[in-house]
Amino acid sequence: MSQDKKLNEKELSEKEQKHIARQKKIKAEVDERIAAAQTEKGVFQVITGNGKGKSTSGFGTVARCVGHDKKAAVVQFIKGGWECGERNLLEKAGVPFTHMETGFTWETQNRESDTKAAQAAWQVAKQYLADDTIDLVLLDELTYMVTYDYVQLEDVLNAVKNRPPMQCVIITGRAAHRELTELADTVSEVKNIKHAFKAGVKAQKGFDY
Ligand code: ATP
Ligand code: MG
Repeated sequence: MSQDKKLNEKELSEKEQKHIARQKKIKAEVDERIAAAQTEKGVFQVITGNGKGKSTSGFGTVARCVGHDKKAAVVQFIKGGWECGERNLLEKAGVPFTHMETGFTWETQNRESDTKAAQAAWQVAKQYLADDTIDLVLLDELTYMVTYDYVQLEDVLNAVKNRPPMQCVIITGRAAHRELTELADTVSEVKNIKHAFKAGVKAQKGFDY
């Protein structure tokens, strides 16, 4: 074996040793954190931000929940009239869905009827948040209802605070109110880097809805 090759092998093994030592340290730290995380409670998660992926993330968790034979329920506070692939699938799996009857859109002019529709959907959400047989409640796009005062922030905070202790809740939507993110256990902000729509690509069935 040439001198150069021997040197390379030695360097490689030093690199490997360093890598193994680093990984061991990371594993020890992670194990320590896993051992320390002993609290069992229903998690309140807020998924906000301007990037694409908030609702799909919420629905991903609903699928995860149902996949473990647990019970999930969904209230959609926007796009009620839209066809939506996740609804077609999850309703077949026994997940109750409620949406705002008017199919609220950005163009809506009638504040009174929007408030009524939001309140009707919110009453259903409140029932879910009081039902200890439901393991996960997804309140998709609820942030907007709070922003527009169609649903009172205090009502949402109280219902989430007083829910069954093991129930998980996810609220999605842009510009989540600070008090919602303060109350939440987990907050994720989806950042927009770019979106196909801006380049003129049409919203696609099975991808965007
Ligand atoms: P998704 O339902 O795909 O997870 P989202 O819940 O993060 O998206 P919303 O703000 O609820 O996003 O918007 C819903 C629709 O608008 C989706 O069809 C999505 O593709 C589109 N959308 C999301 N983010 C952007 C963006 N930054 N620019 C343009 N369109 C967007
Ligand atoms: Mg959404």
